[in-house]
Amino acid sequence: MRHFFLLSFALLLNMCDADAQFDQALAKNYELYKEPSITHRRFKHEVVEGLVKRLATPFKVEPAGASIEGRNIYKVSIGSGPVKVLLWSQMHGDESTATMALMDMFRFFQASDQFDPLRRQLLRELTIVFIPMLNPDGAERFTRRNALGVDLNRDALRLQSPEAQLLKRVRDELKADWGFNLHDQSRYYAAGMQSNTATISFLAPAYNYEKEVNKIRGRAMQLIGLMNGTLQNYIPGKVARYNDDFEPRAFGDNITKWGTSTILIESGGLVDDPEKQEIRKLNFLVIMSALEAIAAHRYEMADRAAYEAIPFNESNAFMDLTLREVEIERNGKWYTVDIGLRRDETIVDGESVMSGAYVADQGDLSTYFSYENFSGRDYQATPGRIYPKVMPNTAAVRKLDHRSLWLQGYTAVRVAQWDDAAGQVQEMDVLPPNEKDKEQMIAPGYGSGVVLKKGGKVEYVVIKGRLYEL
Ligand SMILES: [Zn+2]
Repeated sequence: MRHFFLLSFALLLNMCDADAQFDQALAKNYELYKEPSITHRRFKHEVVEGLVKRLATPFKVEPAGASIEGRNIYKVSIGSGPVKVLLWSQMHGDESTATMALMDMFRFFQASDQFDPLRRQLLRELTIVFIPMLNPDGAERFTRRNALGVDLNRDALRLQSPEAQLLKRVRDELKADWGFNLHDQSRYYAAGMQSNTATISFLAPAYNYEKEVNKIRGRAMQLIGLMNGTLQNYIPGKVARYNDDFEPRAFGDNITKWGTSTILIESGGLVDDPEKQEIRKLNFLVIMSALEAIAAHRYEMADRAAYEAIPFNESNAFMDLTLREVEIERNGKWYTVDIGLRRDETIVDGESVMSGAYVADQGDLSTYFSYENFSGRDYQATPGRIYPKVMPNTAAVRKLDHRSLWLQGYTAVRVAQWDDAAGQVQEMDVLPPNEKDKEQMIAPGYGSGVVLKKGGKVEYVVIKGRLYEL
């Protein structure tokens, strides 16, 4: 009898294990579900609208309201189970990673293959409601805030924005048991004090200043513990959690307070994934695994300690490129500093991207991690110079022999006729005609190129935060 019990217990464990690892089979098949019409982060409302409008049964698609500028915000429902799950993405218009993953999930549910038992289980046990792209006006301009200039995640109490009212109404009508609050965070966060980016960060938000843990919040913690376990197979050491200080105006905190077990997912940075297509896949896998864990009540067995063992987010921990121990000159003397550069992009009319970079900090940056490091001992760093001749336009800049200009210490060129394409040139900083050479500087806040010389010879240049070897 005892022997039999042990045996069946072992079998049960094995089965649980097999179920829990379905994400690996899902990962292998991911390309089948990936929505092919979205390939970068800056897609707009019309793309999402087109995709959700063509969803057929078993999906139910209805406009749940409209944004300030009149763009429809859709509620997409699937399943008829007793457990209600609400997922909303892109409350901040420039945080689109999870929206891409939701589009992939829609394709998953429309497919029919070896995962049919999983689909049947999810639709039988759960009622899943999606609100993809809650802030379409912000998405149109690729900005955080809505057209009112309000951060929707600080409007949960006052509810002035139609988008915020809509989210609360859908949650209340559904009486959601579970909520997934889907965001993007800075790519400069680390997962604990070590050199791993915080690629995904979680939070089970607090519902009061005392940060108490009731059953609602406790089971969000249990589920996050499982989700972290899944992610460790793909991005070991790159998962973090947020500090749980109560924010009385935020949705996650209030939705927890209203009785929904809420999971905040923040997509951060990952080396070699600037358009976050890998992180999109991770969102898909981890959200699918969470739905399965809810449907199978797997989270009930999980230990909250697994949540508490996730390292905290370390903000402002990373640079894009750090020039370590280079020498810079002031008043005729040379000093050893680290130079930390961060790239940035400006979106023009929600469309074209102007890329640039700036010195985020300089001095002793030994406590900073970096996506890329240059070990610069014995190198002298000087500001890149502006090419003396003013070029007529961007097309003429592209035709220049950049390499020979770099060798002469030039990293910037002026154009008589400025256009949007100027910001897209990578190999040179393109400047307006009135820019002065003497204003090129290596100092915090400045975006000048950097020339790296050894023994008087130019060996590298840095332009827009990218290092070029000569
Ligand atoms: Zn956000």
